[in-house]
Amino acid sequence: MEATRMPVLFIGHGSPMNAIEDNEFSQGWEAAVKTLPRPKAIVCVSAHWETMGSAVTAMQKPRTIHDFGGFPRRLYEMEYPAPGAPELAERIGKLVNSTQVKSDLTWGLDHGTWSVLCRMYPQADIPVVQLSLDRSREAAFNYQLGKELQELRQEGLLIIGSGNLVHNLRMMVFEDAAFDWAVDYDARVKQWILDGDHQSIIHYEKQGPAAALSVNSAEHYLPLLYVLGLQKEGEPVSFFNDKVWGGSLSMRCIKIG
Ligand code: ZN
Repeated sequence: MEATRMPVLFIGHGSPMNAIEDNEFSQGWEAAVKTLPRPKAIVCVSAHWETMGSAVTAMQKPRTIHDFGGFPRRLYEMEYPAPGAPELAERIGKLVNSTQVKSDLTWGLDHGTWSVLCRMYPQADIPVVQLSLDRSREAAFNYQLGKELQELRQEGLLIIGSGNLVHNLRMMVFEDAAFDWAVDYDARVKQWILDGDHQSIIHYEKQGPAAALSVNSAEHYLPLLYVLGLQKEGEPVSFFNDKVWGGSLSMRCIKIG
């Protein structure tokens, strides 16, 4: 008999302000948690940790990293004191065959992880590790690496990709607005997900000008590929927070399983 398989989430995190604002996005994250079994631990692939070679946080007590500028002091005072999970970091290193995943003792939890988890699991009592984005690799590598984490779902671990499906900081406006190209590419990716056409999503660079503007520097898009790589054949997918905000940010979140 197959053990219960944990769902996988892609979270559109957007502005760090969502950590401290009670708004439609943070409320959507909170609601999503209520549909999940309580995870034994969390593995988060955040847009905000890019490395050469793969790495996983392996410290006992990851620090809270305030990796942003120009926000209110209250945001810099936020701490997310979730424990680390060195044994899980070691397990990930053994589970992944396609590359060597280095144990990291210097990073911690950046805002791609904690700005979301502080709303989802405010008690900060579930161990968390972060897996980095290896920027020396092409997009398909991230999809494959996601697949290699499949077993962890059977063991009650929650895997989260945290980024934004559409993300262009240069064009962003701090208001409730949506550019046409952002809405267009967000809708196309949604349809590809519904069609199970992951290849079109991986090969975003072939998808024309709206994709080029939407994926931009790609670090916010790549966490999505881990999540899609973890989708088993025929597994259900659902969406929430499906809205483009700030002109160029898709806040769309995806639940698989
Ligand atoms: Zn971000």
